[in-house]
Order: sequence, then structure tokens, then C-alpha cells
Amino acid sequence: MRMPLIAGNWKMNGSLSLVEEFGRAFAGISLPVNVEVALMVPFPFLGAAGQALGETAVTVGAQTLSDRPSGAFTGEVSGAMLRECGARLVLVGHSERRALFGEDDAAVLARVQAALHAGLTPVLCVGETLEEREAERTEAVVLGQVEAVFDALDAAERARLVVAYEPVWAIGTGRTASPEQAQAVHAAIRSCLARYDAGLAGGMRLLYGGSMKADNAAELLAQPDIDGGLVGGASLKVDDFLAICQSA
Ligand code: PGA
Repeated sequence: MRMPLIAGNWKMNGSLSLVEEFGRAFAGISLPVNVEVALMVPFPFLGAAGQALGETAVTVGAQTLSDRPSGAFTGEVSGAMLRECGARLVLVGHSERRALFGEDDAAVLARVQAALHAGLTPVLCVGETLEEREAERTEAVVLGQVEAVFDALDAAERARLVVAYEPVWAIGTGRTASPEQAQAVHAAIRSCLARYDAGLAGGMRLLYGGSMKADNAAELLAQPDIDGGLVGGASLKVDDFLAICQSA
């Protein structure tokens, strides 16, 4: 069956001392064996996170990457560089990248392909705004974002992705989607993936993100099509993040 994944997204937060605090905390506990845990840290912390978490079961990931392999792209970071620095996963198409940095579906696809090429697991983020939800366009928007990527990949590539559903109105707002609202969208994504291949749909891990906290994680994760979480704010406090991992 699908191994749950709890991924922390530090965004542009944290410090080297927080990396060390997480290293010490995770070294001292045993995680449930049937849960994968990842921490998506800012680029400069990748090496330190790899060292601090190296002896633990926590995998290290990044939050974005360039769509190019190398060259004169000042300030950009390639997938191969991330991999060399210890990253195994990378977020692609987070709503903050889409809204604040102009990444459209084509840009998201190019980054998914760059991640696959570099041997990274892309965590494709999708989600609707409040306006889109109120206009009853949630499924059209979310499935459109999924198809924009999956249509362009072959079967072996598709199977390497993880998908995170993050309603934009729930991110950083303290307003979580209800378990029923989240489950409905997750089920729609899984049906959409079944149109490519039933095995793909059955095996794909679909994470929920948007104000996931220690006190709401268990009921979200209990939904049949929710296979883990993408945790922003609550991944910056070691006790909160550990509690979410334990509830998976
Ligand atoms: P949040 O962020 O948990 O702080 O809402 C989630 C995310 O943006 O990935």
C-alpha cells in the first residue's frame, strides 16, 4: 500500500541552529516505521540538514529548482546541485511560487522534468484560490494543474511523482480544509490519475497541505485518499512536527 509521507516545508524560515535542534530531536526518537518523513529546507541549509539528519530516518528536500541543467543563470540552482548536496525530493509548483514568482503550468512542468532528470522526487503542488472555490471551479483548476504535468510525462516518469493538494486559502491562514473537503479533492485527483493508468492512481501518494497542525492531522490523515501532509508553519516547531509525524 501507499507509504504515508509527512514533509515539512520551512519556506524562507529557520536557521542552522534550528536544523541542529531537529537533528538532535529526531536522533532521540523512533518514528513509526511505516511513515516517511522529509524536511524541505532553504538551499543554504541542505548540507547541514543532511549532516544533522543523516543518522535519522528523515529525508532532506528542497523547495524549488531551476528548469535548466546549468549555465549562465545567475542565482539559480539546478537539480543536480540539489542532489549533490543531499536533497532527495523537491517541491515544484508551490502556490507561493505560482503566485509570487510567476510560475505558470509550463514553468512547473519544466521544473518537474528537470527534477526527474536529476534523479529527484518532484512533489507537485496544486490547489485552488478562495475565489476559484467560491466560483465552484475547484476541480477544474486542480485537475487542470495535474493534467498540465501528467499529460507531458511518460508512464515511468508519472510514477515517480508525489502530488500535494494545498488549497491556497488554507495555506498559512489557520483555516484548514475540513477532512471531507480535502478528501473530495483527493478522490477527484485519484480518479483523474486513473484515466492514465489504474496502477498509477492506486500507488500515487497524495498529500494534503494547508494549516495542518498536531491537533487536526490525525483526522485529515485518516481519510482514505490522504496519504500524508505538506506542513508549513507547524514544521518549524520540533514538537509540533514530531506530533504530526507520530499521528500518521
Ligand atoms: P501551512 O503551509 O502549513 O503553514 O499552511 C503549508 C504549505 O505552504 O506548504
